Amino acid sequence: MRDPFCYRGNFWFGDFPRPEGFSLRAPISVSWMVTRRCQSACIFCCTDSHSRAPLGADIATIKRALDRLSEWGALRLIAGGGEPLVRHDIADILDHASGRGLAPTLATNGFLLDAGMAKRLAPSVMQFQISLDSVRPDEYAALRGAAGGPHLALRAIENAADAGGNVRVVTVLNSRNIDHLEEVAAAVERSAATQWFLFAVLPSGRGARLQHKLGLRDLAAARGRVADVRKNLRDDLAVCFWGDSADDSVAVYLTEDCQIELKDYSTNSRRNLNLDLGSALVTDYHNAWRQIDAGAKHATLKNFVSPVRAV
Ligand code: SF4
Repeated sequence: MRDPFCYRGNFWFGDFPRPEGFSLRAPISVSWMVTRRCQSACIFCCTDSHSRAPLGADIATIKRALDRLSEWGALRLIAGGGEPLVRHDIADILDHASGRGLAPTLATNGFLLDAGMAKRLAPSVMQFQISLDSVRPDEYAALRGAAGGPHLALRAIENAADAGGNVRVVTVLNSRNIDHLEEVAAAVERSAATQWFLFAVLPSGRGARLQHKLGLRDLAAARGRVADVRKNLRDDLAVCFWGDSADDSVAVYLTEDCQIELKDYSTNSRRNLNLDLGSALVTDYHNAWRQIDAGAKHATLKNFVSPVRAV
C-alpha cells in the first residue's frame, strides 16, 4: 500500500496552498493513540504511556470510530500509542482501517514485531514506523527503560522489510544521543529502511517535564548536524527532520478513548472537538472541523505533507 502523499521518499503536495482562507473538509492525517499501555518507559514519552495503563477502547467502538474517520474524509491513520502491538486485536483493527481506505502507519517500538507478526500485518499497513534512538544498549536503556533493546528494534526493521513492508526509522533527538548520531545513521544505512525521520523531544507528557534536561537548545544546529550526516548515506534513503517550524506543532489526534482532539505541541495544549463517536454523525465532524480556524487546518496539512522536511 502506497502512502498517498509520499513520492520517491519525500512528501509532496504539488503547489502548496496558502494558509489564508485555507479549506480542507477533513484532516488528511489522524494520529491515533491506540492504547497508552507500553512495555517501554521512555523518559521523553509525549503520551505518558506506561505498562499498567488500560488497553484502550473495545474493538467495536474502535471500528465505529474508524468508520467515522473514513466517512469524514481522513486519508491517513498513524496508529501509535503507547505500543499498539500490545493489543491482541491490532491486526484485525488495522485490517478494518485499511478496508475503509485509511492508509495505516504502524508506529511501534518493534519489540513484538517478529517475522510472523510482520507478515500478518504487512498487507494492511502502508508503513511500519519503528523507533531507534540509539544502538548502544546502555544508552537505549537509559532513554527507553529496561525492556527490549536496540537489537529488537533492528530485528523489527528487517522483519517488516522482509514481509514486503515499507519501513521508516524514527529517532527522537535529544541531548544524550545527539553526539552519537553517526552510529544510529550507520545502522539505518545498513538496514532496509526507506526513510529516516528525526525530531526533537516534544514538550508534551514526560517530554515536557524533562525538556530542560533532554531538549536540544539549538534546533537549527541539529538540522545542520542531520544534514551533514545525511551526506554520507545512500541516495535512496529519504531523511526528514521535523520539529523546527511552527507548523510542526499541530496535529489531529484520536485518543485512546476515541475522542478527537486538536493538539498543539508548542503550547502543550489540546482542544477536544467533543464528538461522541458512538452517536456522532459525519456532519457533526464536518461542523466541528469547520470551526477550526484556517491557519490551524493549514498547519495540520503542512505537519504531514511538506517538501521542506527533507534534508
Ligand atoms: S515513546 Fe513510545 S515506546 Fe516510548 S514509552 Fe512512549 S509510547 Fe512507549
